[in-house]
Amino acid sequence: MNAVCIHCGKRKSGALTLCGVCGRAPDSSEEMAQAVLLSDHNLLGEDLGTLAARIASGEGVTFRTEDVERIARNIDVTRKGRPWKSDWILVLVGVLFFLAFVMAVLIRSTQR
Ligand SMILES: [Zn+2]
Repeated sequence: MNAVCIHCGKRKSGALTLCGVCGRAPDSSEEMAQAVLLSDHNLLGEDLGTLAARIASGEGVTFRTEDVERIARNIDVTRKGRPWKSDWILVLVGVLFFLAFVMAVLIRSTQR
């Protein structure tokens, strides 16, 4: 993927890679989303060149908020995993411990 560094405007390969010129990489989910938008995944090569020049000149580019938010949300889900999955495991472990406790009490009361 051909991309443009969101910090200095230089070309780099891969939206989320480290920039060889300024040494920075997109950090937050929002920056990653902007970096993905500033790649040939979303833009034609010629648009990329225009935007790269605007970043390099300090003029900057304006992103559509809904695009950045949509992609940032996807990145968040991918990075953190689905939250319900870990909750589900916690509940399961809790239930198993409770069952083990109940069994232990039952077994104790039947012995003798
Ligand atoms: Zn850079």
